[in-house]
Amino acid sequence: MVENRWAASHEPLRLRAETLDAVVREWYEELHGPVQPLVGQLNRRLAEYALDRSTAETDGALAGEPASAALADSFSSRFSLFDDAGVGTADALVAEFEGSALDDRITTATVDAYRHYRNLHADYVDEWVCTRGEMFHAVSTAEQSLSALSPELDVVVLSGYHEFRPVERRLIERLVDELPMIALLPLHQDGRSGVDAVAEDALDVYEALDFETVDLEPVDESGRAFGTITESLYRPDPDSVPAPDTLRWRELPTPEREIRFVARELRTELANGRDPDDLAVVIPGTEAYSGYVEDTFDTFDIPHVTTAASQLNRTFTGSIVHDLLNLAEADPRAKNLTSLLANPLVDIVPTDQANAVTAAARRRDTVSVAPLLDDVDDQAATLIEELLTTLETLRTGDIEDATDTLRRLLDDRFNLKETTEDYATGAEQAVEQRAYDLVDEVLTSFESLASVSSNLSPLALFTRAFDGVPIRVPQRAAGGHVEVMGLLDARMRSFEKVFLVGLTSEHFPVTSEHPAFFEEMTDAHPRFDTGDERLRGRYLFATLLANVDQLTITTPEAGDEESAVVRSPVLDELQRVTDIEPETGVDDRVGSREDLQRHIAATADQRAAVSRAGDRGDISPDQTKRMDRGLHCADKRGTAGLSEHDGVLEPETVDEVYPPSEREPYSASRIERYVECGFKFYADNVLGIEDPDDVEVAPTPLETGSYVHDVLERFFADLQDDIDEGVDLPKFDRDTLATHLSDIAVEELHDADFQYDGLFYERWKAELFAGLSDEGSRLYEAGSNPHNAPEQGLFARFLDNELSRDDTDRPHLFEAPFGEGLPDSDAGPFTVERPDGSTVSIRGYIDRVDVNREGEQPSLTLYDYKTGRAPYMTKTTGGTKFQLPIYLLAAADVVTGDLFDQGSLSATYYQVRPPNDLKVPRGVESKFDSEVELRRFLDDIVPEWLGQIDDAIANGRFHTTLLSARGANCRYCDYRRACDVRHHRKREFVNEVGTDEAAYVPLRVRDDKDIEAVMGDD
Ligand code: SF4
Repeated sequence: MVENRWAASHEPLRLRAETLDAVVREWYEELHGPVQPLVGQLNRRLAEYALDRSTAETDGALAGEPASAALADSFSSRFSLFDDAGVGTADALVAEFEGSALDDRITTATVDAYRHYRNLHADYVDEWVCTRGEMFHAVSTAEQSLSALSPELDVVVLSGYHEFRPVERRLIERLVDELPMIALLPLHQDGRSGVDAVAEDALDVYEALDFETVDLEPVDESGRAFGTITESLYRPDPDSVPAPDTLRWRELPTPEREIRFVARELRTELANGRDPDDLAVVIPGTEAYSGYVEDTFDTFDIPHVTTAASQLNRTFTGSIVHDLLNLAEADPRAKNLTSLLANPLVDIVPTDQANAVTAAARRRDTVSVAPLLDDVDDQAATLIEELLTTLETLRTGDIEDATDTLRRLLDDRFNLKETTEDYATGAEQAVEQRAYDLVDEVLTSFESLASVSSNLSPLALFTRAFDGVPIRVPQRAAGGHVEVMGLLDARMRSFEKVFLVGLTSEHFPVTSEHPAFFEEMTDAHPRFDTGDERLRGRYLFATLLANVDQLTITTPEAGDEESAVVRSPVLDELQRVTDIEPETGVDDRVGSREDLQRHIAATADQRAAVSRAGDRGDISPDQTKRMDRGLHCADKRGTAGLSEHDGVLEPETVDEVYPPSEREPYSASRIERYVECGFKFYADNVLGIEDPDDVEVAPTPLETGSYVHDVLERFFADLQDDIDEGVDLPKFDRDTLATHLSDIAVEELHDADFQYDGLFYERWKAELFAGLSDEGSRLYEAGSNPHNAPEQGLFARFLDNELSRDDTDRPHLFEAPFGEGLPDSDAGPFTVERPDGSTVSIRGYIDRVDVNREGEQPSLTLYDYKTGRAPYMTKTTGGTKFQLPIYLLAAADVVTGDLFDQGSLSATYYQVRPPNDLKVPRGVESKFDSEVELRRFLDDIVPEWLGQIDDAIANGRFHTTLLSARGANCRYCDYRRACDVRHHRKREFVNEVGTDEAAYVPLRVRDDKDIEAVMGDD
């Protein structure tokens, strides 16, 4: 940035911007030949192995547990500090600690670890590899003149230092001797107290070296205004300074709204022509806010780049390594496989197979990988198994083989280097490439140290090495984008407008926690101090303030999940000095399409508002059209009458899209579904919209129902010797029956076309099989909480219920088919005839027919098993449920002889609801005074209603439900967001539809008639 600014007004070749480290390396190489700096990862490995040696010892402060990644981090940075302090050997450290007040255990352990570290360094690191301290030391003590090494240098400008490590200080002293130097040091007060306290060190160095001080005054009004503020911060009794207009403080209800506010502001700035490079968003708590920033800035179309430090694991490249290491464990986890397969940089198996694995993982609720492989094709399963086998080397092989395996996987198998080069563009690409380089650096460090012996497995070593590796994207990737950064990155940068987000005590200033071990060392040896974060935070805040033209600070009123938030003490100080108060309240300006839609929703003439937004180009022509149509449709639906917007089709259209050949024969349940809601029926049956493939962890109600039906059918059918004879249950003893039922249920379960595993499935099985037989109970794992198995499950209860019933009723027919076209039956057509002679064709199965021939008049009882709640009988006489009357009508075709004509009829539900909710309510016949009435209902009224339903479908009446929301199960309906049903106006709607001759209005929802009146009319 400095170079660019310079190049804009001066000769570019006259200025070179370099880091101090780069210049030192250049000089070092001129003095001693090519050098390789000790890379961070190799240095960290040395610290890890050194600590492993210390922890493997039998006594000492570090003996015991293997060193964690966090401990290795702490020691590694402490060793760098020693190096920077010029303490290059363990003996030098001993000398440093001599006469120290520090606890002996701490000095001994530190010296011991440092000795291992230096020994490892000497034994395994190439001699041309140099530490930072060694390079700085060599350059600052070189005999040759530095100015002779760089004769082109007229003057050195040093910027960005407010604290110096010892080696840096020595180098500056040397430089000053040889070259003209200018040091830049932002100071806000006297350089020693208040916000400047942290800069005292640099000021001391410059003063000791006799730098001439030149004060630079702010060049513009905003600089002067902010300067007056920074001058007063952290001073006793400052004069009150008014906050300038360029300083704002906005408080929003939550962190998310904070980011939305910033996004709206940025949109306004960009729309007004501000260059994104002149804007910055500084977020001290970048980790906590990063999710909101990505989502919200994308929604608001803000070109942005996050250059704040992050973690390797948060990149796609890093998460590949993370997943591979987890998959190398003895019992690999499903979530690591699904995460690996979903990674955009990985292409192990075809996408459909990867999706199948993910779907299976959700459905099966399994933690381990193995069961997921059943759901993919053989080729994909083999590829995954091969991968897992390859990864075993990480657990069982030596470190050399393991590193080689991981490298081959990443480079040859996943082709990761090229993939990251082709991935996305700009900053996203830069992040992944940097991540790849880091992974490479880690693997190279293991290769360099392959001959170091270790008691840990390669997997443990890798896991520790890859834990918490920081990653930082180069700033050059930010051009043309609004940069989102941490506070440290904003140091010595200047912007026109900056948003400082989340200034709470949680995020700023953060005082990093060092192990107590090092706290004590710092107290005893200030030379090894890492500085005071609080003081540093104040200084950085003031420097940011002084470097911008406009600053907007935002804070949340509450944290995530309404946790309390404490403002940063820096903000309290700013308030003390300036009396600034936050602007509060929600921010409801329009900044994104989402905001625009909310605003339009609140206007009186929405169509006009949409049209205006379309004219202004705020929404595209396609969006304008779609929104206008949507509003027109909603308007039409707002009236009670039926229109093409309420699911009404022309009969000709129905003929084309849902002709009689497709809809007939009806099943009882299809008829009931139409009556429940025409719109849902239309979407499911006419448009053929498939159910979303919901993720299930146990059999669905449909799967449970079908399984239980199959078991109960076979239970009786297999006991029946003669089809004309009913099953005489009491002639068997209970144990025999229980074994029989259990055998069938187990067999059917094996043959079922669903497959689950996991806790919920175990519970499901327990609810069916508990208390039935030993074989049955072996089928599930009866655990303790949370899945308490009932003592008696459904099958045991069913058996007891059957044995306790009147034994003159003999179960006779099971799953008896009627109507044509059923897969396992050759029954002829079954139709019901309306009074006007038209017919409706129906088909289905009657779950069970019991016959009693003991009395004077034989009786027929039909059962319909329900694994859910059995509906009330009034729904049948109210014209919304049809199963029982249809089965009664069909029984005439199903039973032999004159049984149907002569017998007394009964039909009811048999509720078999797991785990043990059994109920057989009084049948539909109980709703009529006599057999004659029942038959009249069956012969006249039911056919008439069925005919009306058939007509309504043929006439395209696919409007939303006439029942209550509960009656139509709207809560569980997939279309509830699309159908726009208005239950509060149901009465009006029913009345309107009632005037439509072609519609079917169930008796149940009509006020003017009940079943008695209908029967009376007849
Ligand atoms: S939500 Fe209710 S009214 Fe709407 S489609 Fe579904 S069932 Fe019908």
